Amino acid sequence: MQKETIAIHAGYNKKEGHGSMSVPITQTTAYAFRDSEHAANLFALKELGPIYGRITNPTTDVLEQRFAALEGGAAAICTSSGQAAIFFAIANVAEAGDNILISDKLYGGAVTLLTHTIKRFGIKARVFNSEKVNDLEEQINDKTKAIFFESLSNPQIAIGDIEKIVEIAKKHGVLTICDNTVATAALFNPIKWGVDVVVHSTSKYTNGQGTAIGGIVVEREGLAEFFKENNKRYYHFNEPDESYHGLVYTEVPLPNFCLRIRLALLRDIGATQSPHNSWLLIQTLETLLLRVDKHSDNALEVAKFLQSHPKVKSVNYPGLKDSPYYEKAQKYFKNGKASGLISFEAESFEDARKIIDSTKLFSVVVNIGDSKSLITHPGSTTHSQLSEEELIAAGINPSTIRLSIGLEDPKDLIEDLDQALNK
Ligand SMILES: *Cc1c(COP(=O)(O)O)cnc(C)c1O
Repeated sequence: MQKETIAIHAGYNKKEGHGSMSVPITQTTAYAFRDSEHAANLFALKELGPIYGRITNPTTDVLEQRFAALEGGAAAICTSSGQAAIFFAIANVAEAGDNILISDKLYGGAVTLLTHTIKRFGIKARVFNSEKVNDLEEQINDKTKAIFFESLSNPQIAIGDIEKIVEIAKKHGVLTICDNTVATAALFNPIKWGVDVVVHSTSKYTNGQGTAIGGIVVEREGLAEFFKENNKRYYHFNEPDESYHGLVYTEVPLPNFCLRIRLALLRDIGATQSPHNSWLLIQTLETLLLRVDKHSDNALEVAKFLQSHPKVKSVNYPGLKDSPYYEKAQKYFKNGKASGLISFEAESFEDARKIIDSTKLFSVVVNIGDSKSLITHPGSTTHSQLSEEELIAAGINPSTIRLSIGLEDPKDLIEDLDQALNK
């Protein structure tokens, strides 16, 4: 099936939903068992079915199946936010004493989670250059449990050498985790390029209208074999889990990565997505491919306009022919499209603030992927805690403005930016 069809039909059987054309919301906390034997079978995984709302929900299940199919994966599991998805993906493989390798260009929330918060759990993050990938291999050791990067990074709007990262990871039997939030499954499928696990913040383009926070983890086919082959690194998938009456994950004929997140992490930590948010995301997923296409086309027009404006010092958009990421966008992304994210340099810090305060159609919001166009000044908001050197290292100058181009007519967006730039 093609992605356009998957986004609308996969994972839902109308008969099970009483013929309802819209996927029903199962708004419940718990599920009645037929009898005590049924309950015991469910807990022992002898029979599959819902047990308790923290662990499974039929509405969420539809979204999980649909998303897994869209990413070309074997299974998916929803989480309460993108941050929770990243945390679960890492916590599923790493423990105290381990390390993970993370890209130098990541979302701010991922940076604080992976370098500060999980350090207190004894898991250390080491940074590698995602474009040159010249310092990745040398940092891998016996305790390296994952390599984490973003396909199209937010807010730098950079594309790393994904092929090389995957090649090195495979050579050493280390799990790769790719955050595909910005590129989305519409433009890019990391699993098709050999990535093991994909995470998303569904709060962004998947939702597309700024109405729900959500996250998801998707795994490729065949991870049980990978965990068996790399038993030394991932022994906990091959040994009895004492917290689940001695269950050995790789002996269960279900996709192992999501299974362990569900049975151990979601059970214990409980960052579960609400059925209502799953339902909202099922609606919005139907138009994801159409929207991302239009976001990308609009952004290319706006980027070309900005490039031609005398008050703009430079424009960063991978869809522009002179972008350092143009070749990679052509190589990896569908039709070379590059999402709705653009950044550009104003003439100064003061100018950047003036432009932001002068726009009328753009909302000053620290979000991305909305149908409404958004504008941010990272230097005075999301990245204001960073020193000037840290800003530069993160690819952000004090005069950087980030745009998330929406679905309005690009002529109106251009007119608005033009008047703001000329003020
Ligand atoms: C927003 C974002 C996240 C975090 O997602 P939340 O749903 O806000 O928790 C993670 N990664 C990227 C690339 C993001 O843009």
